[in-house]
Amino acid sequence: MLAYTYVERGRFELREKEKPVLLDAGDAIVRVTLASICTSDLHIKHGSVPRAVPGITVGHEMVGVVESVGSSVKTVRPGDRVTVNVETFCGECFFCQNGWVNNCTDPNGGWALGCRIDGGQAEYVRVPCADQGLNRIPDSVTDEQALLVGDVLATGYWAADISGIQKRDTVLILGAGPTGICTLQCVLLKEPRRVIVCDKDPHRLKFVRDHYLTVLTCGPEQVEDLVLAYSDHGGADVVLEVAGGEETFQMAWKLARPNATVTVVALYDGPQTLPLPEMYGKNLTFKTGGVDGCNCAETLALIEAGKLDTVPLITHTYALRDIEAAYDLFEHKRDGVIKVAVRMEN
Ligand SMILES: [Zn+2]
Ligand SMILES: [Zn+2]
Repeated sequence: MLAYTYVERGRFELREKEKPVLLDAGDAIVRVTLASICTSDLHIKHGSVPRAVPGITVGHEMVGVVESVGSSVKTVRPGDRVTVNVETFCGECFFCQNGWVNNCTDPNGGWALGCRIDGGQAEYVRVPCADQGLNRIPDSVTDEQALLVGDVLATGYWAADISGIQKRDTVLILGAGPTGICTLQCVLLKEPRRVIVCDKDPHRLKFVRDHYLTVLTCGPEQVEDLVLAYSDHGGADVVLEVAGGEETFQMAWKLARPNATVTVVALYDGPQTLPLPEMYGKNLTFKTGGVDGCNCAETLALIEAGKLDTVPLITHTYALRDIEAAYDLFEHKRDGVIKVAVRMEN
């Protein structure tokens, strides 16, 4: 089968590999139908994910059809259409029992697929802990509708969920990339009084304005004025930092009102400074990533009910054999790209 492979720092390659087989009673083999490219794949490519193992197949956001299951798998059967969760988790350890599956203590726990073990930018993928890692896609939900469930939508849902958003709140979201927009959709489900989205890319802001009519948008230069104009207590009640820049991290705590919650969803390239003397007296609560991706059943139900829709984010689709071109477009942010889907032809 064909598999897009992390060869060495700076180089991915489409290679012929053996089709994966069941290795453990909890495994499933999934025939991938649609995969997507994530910014984290680019982080692997550029060598900024030390855990990533050269030789592995990349890709951690995909949907497909279950081909075979190990003897202990109970929740899915061959033939089921499924989403694949970015995180592998056992469902039994202390962290899993508390819903903190990102910190699952299983040797494969956390982000393994497409990082430490073979992922899904390939025709087939082996999914460990399949009872936790796969969710059946409702019949009325298409592959495109379900594609982002396992990673960026899981992240957005988790971020909105841990932020304690109330109906009276002004919520500021920094960053309108794919994760920012998924976060926005999930924040809107909480029905806060006002939502402001800030990004430096005018195309992204236009996308937000076109699709989410009640949301206010601005660039970094206007954000302070806009937040102050639309909040009652000197800053946003909740700030979600999804952009991952140095300036946005500082913006996040500065634009929060005293006693606000600042949820840091972003993954940074380097350490950030918490200027505690300047912050003193603001009494902020920080929540930090990464995602506890155990909410896929809920998000699939919300998609089925028409309350979440990530299809507009998939701006481009390529065949697996053209995946180089897909990466090139995504990496260089050409042609208004938000998310790129890769279609398998098996
Ligand atoms: Zn990702
Ligand atoms: Zn666990």
